[in-house]
Amino acid sequence: MIISGTQLAKEIKENVKTQVAEAVKTYGRPPHLVVILVGEDPASQSYVKGKGKDAEEVGFKSTTIRKPDTISEEELLEIIENLNRDDEVDGILVQLPLPAHIDEDKVIETILQSKDVDGFHPANVAALWQKRPCTYPCTPKGIIKLLDKAGVQIEGKKAVVLGRSNIVGLPAAKMLLDRNATVTIAHSRTKGLAKTAAEADILVVAIGKPKFVTEDMVKPGAAVIDVGVNREPETGKLCGDVDFANCESKASVITPVPGGVGPMTRACLMENTLECFLNKMKKNNN
Ligand code: NAP
Repeated sequence: MIISGTQLAKEIKENVKTQVAEAVKTYGRPPHLVVILVGEDPASQSYVKGKGKDAEEVGFKSTTIRKPDTISEEELLEIIENLNRDDEVDGILVQLPLPAHIDEDKVIETILQSKDVDGFHPANVAALWQKRPCTYPCTPKGIIKLLDKAGVQIEGKKAVVLGRSNIVGLPAAKMLLDRNATVTIAHSRTKGLAKTAAEADILVVAIGKPKFVTEDMVKPGAAVIDVGVNREPETGKLCGDVDFANCESKASVITPVPGGVGPMTRACLMENTLECFLNKMKKNNN
């Protein structure tokens, strides 16, 4: 079974849109998401365009701030601080990666935790690892929703996550652990990675290597979630970290690229923005 992230993302956005219409009646305005784009990287430009399109689709106010890659760190931090102070801004997202002269950690820390719709702020990360209420990072949140939608049982299963980045691998592993899977995290120094992967009931792949996972690395009947977004070296076509054609028949459920985790990440961003807005409004009303 191929799990369509596009379809599930559509359902999530429909739900957000309904809640936004209600929120406008109750609070007099829709949530406002501000996305900051530094530089002209084509992939970043396309991600930011997609986020803006989704935000408008669900009825948010959406602002994109574009700055040249020559912007100083100080100037960028000042923009964020002004947005932090602006009561009519509910979510702030800085598109990563940033130019080398800007400290990404500093930028992420400067965004107010309550406006951190990406879930990257250290206080949100700490809350996730301590099982306290937090904004869940969008991509891992989308992964769990895809598994749930496909009816994959997580509790008691063996999950293997390939990749240990702060934004995908690690939080995805933690969220699977919190759903009572037994989790192994593998990475570039893992010995016998193919064998480890082939033991997984749930295989999440987030390494950024085109078609890295082949059918010998997939347990028969496994659920395979492909996070990777790559270009095929030969054709330049978009592809995942999993060799889809090669693995499809071995997996019980599998996500395609494009149309799998990607749209889910954006849908979860819309959910997170609405959540930040509602939390603030409820707090203001108390
Ligand atoms: P990243 O920060 O570059 O991390 C890659 C991880 O993969 C690292 O932990 C690295 O191990 C591991 N790795 C690299 N080569 C490996 C190998 N040959 N064998 C085993 N592990 C290996 O990447 P990321 O930000 O997590 O992104 C991963 C992929 O997901 C990329 O293709 C990215 O474009 C995509 N992505 C998609 C979405 C979406 O919404 N669909 C969102 C975010 C990212 P070490 O830690 O040992 O270096």
